[in-house]
Amino acid sequence: MEISGHTQLLALIGSPIGHSGSPAMHNYSSQKTGVDCAYLAFDIKEEETRQAFDALRLLKVRGFNVTMPCKTAAVTCCDDLSKAARLIGAVNTVVYENGKMIGHNTDGLGWVRNCRENQVEIQGKKMTVAGSGGAATAIAITAALEGLKELAVFAIRDSFYANAKATVEKIRANVPGCKVNLYDLADTDVFYRQVGESDIFTNATRVGMKPMDQETLIEDPKVFRPELVVSDVVYNPRETRLIREAKAAGCRTIPGIGMLLWQGAEAFRLFTGKDMPAKEVMERYFQE
Ligand code: NAD
Repeated sequence: MEISGHTQLLALIGSPIGHSGSPAMHNYSSQKTGVDCAYLAFDIKEEETRQAFDALRLLKVRGFNVTMPCKTAAVTCCDDLSKAARLIGAVNTVVYENGKMIGHNTDGLGWVRNCRENQVEIQGKKMTVAGSGGAATAIAITAALEGLKELAVFAIRDSFYANAKATVEKIRANVPGCKVNLYDLADTDVFYRQVGESDIFTNATRVGMKPMDQETLIEDPKVFRPELVVSDVVYNPRETRLIREAKAAGCRTIPGIGMLLWQGAEAFRLFTGKDMPAKEVMERYFQE
C-alpha cells in the first residue's frame, strides 16, 4: 500500500526510541490488514509530553504509543482514561477519537492475552507476583480487574516498594473481589509457601534480565510443582533461568516475549479495530 493524502498517522513517543520494534510491527500489520496508516517514532523527553500531545492532536493522529519516560506524564495529558490506565497510573496507548485523547494501558492486557494464548485462564485463580515496578503494577491491577481471585505481591524494600503498597491499596479499594496481600521478598519461607499455594507465579522484576541473567527468584527447584504455571516478563534473554528450570521441572511456562507481542497487538486493535497478524509478527520481528 502506498502512502497517500488519505494515510493516517500512528506514532510512538518516548526517549530513546531508536531501538523500538513498534514501528516495524505496526507498519507491517497495517500493510497486511489493509489499514491505511503509517507509524513513526518521535524522540520526546518527559517534560515535552504535553507539547507532543498538543502537536499530535493538531495533526489529527489516529493513535499513538507512549514509552518511557513519558508513560506517567501521559496520564495527565489524556482527556479520558480506561479503568486499567487510571488505576495503573500509566498510559502506553492513546486513541484519538471524536476529538478526545483516550489513554489505555495494554501492558497488563498483553500479559493476560499471553496467558490465554498459552491455554491459561486467570479467572478465579491465585497468583503470586514478584515486583513493584511498571510491569508488576500493570500485571497486578489488570489481573485483578480480569477476575483473579487472590494475589500475593512480593517486593524488595527498594525505592519501588511504595508502588507495591499503593497497588495493593488500589486493588483493595477498587476490586474487592480480589484478595490481595503484600510481602517482603526477603522472607523466603513465606515466599515459597505462597508460591506453593498459587496456581500461577509471575516474575515481574528485572531478575533474569542481563546483567542478572544468571539469577532467579526461585532457587529451590522443589517449589516447582507440575500444576504451577510459571510466567516471566523478562524477554532478554528469551528463555530466562526461571523459565528454563521451571520447564525442566514439568511446569507450564510462559516467557515474556509473548507479553511484548500481545501488548502491541492490543494497541493495534485499539487503533484500527483489527487483529494484528501476531504469528507472522512474532516470526518476523521477535526471533532472537
Ligand atoms: P522497573 O524498573 O519499573 O521495575 C523493576 C522491578 O525489579 C522493581 O520492582 C524492582 O524492585 C525489581 N528488582 C530489581 N532488582 C531486583 C532484585 N535484585 N531482586 C528483586 N527485585 C528486583 O522495570 P519494569 O519496567 O517493571 O521492567 C521489569 C522487567 O520487565 C524488565 O526486564 C523489562 O524488560 C520487562 N518488561 C517486559 C515487558 C514485556 O512486554 N514482556 C513489558 C515491560 C517490562
